[in-house]
Amino acid sequence: GKPIIAVTGLKKHYPVRKGLLRRTVGQVFAVDGVSFSIGEGETLGLVGESGCGKSTVARAVMRLIEPTDGTITLEGQDITHLGKAELRPFRRQMQMIFQDPFSSLNPRMTAGDIVREPLLVHGVARGRAAEERTAALFEQVGLRPAQMRSFPHQFSGGQRQRVSIARAIALDPRLIIGDEPVSALDVSIQAQVINLLMDLQRQKRLSYLFIAHDLAVVEHISHRVAVMYLGKIVEYTDKTSLFLNPLHPYTEALLSAVPVPDPRLKRRRRVLEGDVPSPMKPPPGCAFHTRCPYAEARCRVEAPVLQEAAPGHFVSCHLHVAA
Ligand code: SF4
Ligand code: MG
Repeated sequence: GKPIIAVTGLKKHYPVRKGLLRRTVGQVFAVDGVSFSIGEGETLGLVGESGCGKSTVARAVMRLIEPTDGTITLEGQDITHLGKAELRPFRRQMQMIFQDPFSSLNPRMTAGDIVREPLLVHGVARGRAAEERTAALFEQVGLRPAQMRSFPHQFSGGQRQRVSIARAIALDPRLIIGDEPVSALDVSIQAQVINLLMDLQRQKRLSYLFIAHDLAVVEHISHRVAVMYLGKIVEYTDKTSLFLNPLHPYTEALLSAVPVPDPRLKRRRRVLEGDVPSPMKPPPGCAFHTRCPYAEARCRVEAPVLQEAAPGHFVSCHLHVAA
């Protein structure tokens, strides 16, 4: 089917300014040519270490920041350059859930008011109808309607994330972007929140862009996974191929940190050495060459491009070329 969201060649470069005169001394290549699409009822997991540009992708897709280049299409409509007023009808279609619901939920508002607010702002319901709709939303996310009167600090971390999910689904969006929505929660609570998101996806044919720094977190919820390194997608394929047959050395390294449920499945242990290089000065050639155990001379000079090494399996590495 037609994708709900399609992102093509997305770039976000920030100028780096220094000194009294705020002279531009360089560019940060936060996102440097990212393309993906998400179908109806589908989840794309977006994974990479912090600082690789995942949150910048999320904020650009939400049109909270202006992309430097590329296009963003929502249900076939190009929204890349729409102004504030033109964006309004599209805002309803895309909602975001953040890592820390404590800082994203207004501490002075009751949970009920937090969830009801988008209904009022968008003129969807008011008065008694809004009250009933809010109560129904609480039930949909596994909270009791009586909890509408509680304030954010009276909830546990997992319950607070349920409140932000209720707010996110209030306007019946098509796409929800979760920027590390479970990263701050205990593992058992992570599973509950992920299962809730999956239930809601089945009921509402929701599409998700689910961001995490840990592959284990996206394994259950994702249909496809994109792995990012220094502003670029380095591997992009369906979940099964990624977990059983990772092609990029960076994915292999990230995977070696994921516990294997089946002991027959042996994974080579690879520990990533060194820090992520500065996105202001990405290494020449393959940006991963400074940490790659397979790096050869050409990797230091020639940048690999993302290509289809196996059907539907895209990778950006000189070791894997298109057939
Ligand atoms: Fe490693 Fe070279 Fe592949 Fe880059 S291109 S991931 S340095 S083998
Ligand atoms: Mg981030």
